Amino acid sequence: MKLQNEINLNLVPDEGENFSFDAEAIKKSSAFDEIALFHESNSINIFITPIGSKHFEVKAEINLKRPLNCSRCGEGFEDWFKETSTEYLSLDKDEEGEDKGFLILESPKWTWSTFVVESVELETPYQLYKNGEKCLEYCVHYDEAVKKGWISIEENKPNAFSALESLKGKLN
Ligand SMILES: [Zn+2]
Repeated sequence: MKLQNEINLNLVPDEGENFSFDAEAIKKSSAFDEIALFHESNSINIFITPIGSKHFEVKAEINLKRPLNCSRCGEGFEDWFKETSTEYLSLDKDEEGEDKGFLILESPKWTWSTFVVESVELETPYQLYKNGEKCLEYCVHYDEAVKKGWISIEENKPNAFSALESLKGKLN
C-alpha cells in the first residue's frame, strides 16, 4: 500500500487528530527519498488542531536519519534531524490570512509530506561538517583553498571585499 501523502482537513474532528508514520510507512513514500535514509527509528508525527472551522494549527515532530555531505571535504555522512515544525493553515480564501501568518490552501487536502520535506530543508544548517572540528580545520584541499583565497583562515582576516574597500580608500 502506498503512503497517503494528503490529509483532508475537513475530516479532522474538533478535538484534533494525530497522524503517526513509522519507519516502514515513511519508506513507502518516495517523497522522503532525498532527505531521509531508512532507519528503524525514523518517525513523523503530525498533530492537527482546528481553530474554528477554516483554520488549523499543524505541528510535525520529525525524526529522520539524514544523508548529508560535509561542507568542507564533501564526504558523505549521516546525522539525525529531530525538530518540531509548526504551520498555520487556512481554507478561507476571502480573508487576508497570509498577513496573520496563515498559509492559504486551495483545497482541504493538505500535502503533509511537502511540509515535512520543506521543514527539513529549511532547518538543516547550510554548513555541516562530517568530523566536526576536524573537518573545520583539515581537508585535503584546505591548503590549496587558502592559498587561492577561496576561504580565509580566520573570520577577522580581511576578505576580498574588505581588501577592495581599503584599496578604494587609498585611491580616494
Ligand atoms: Zn569534512
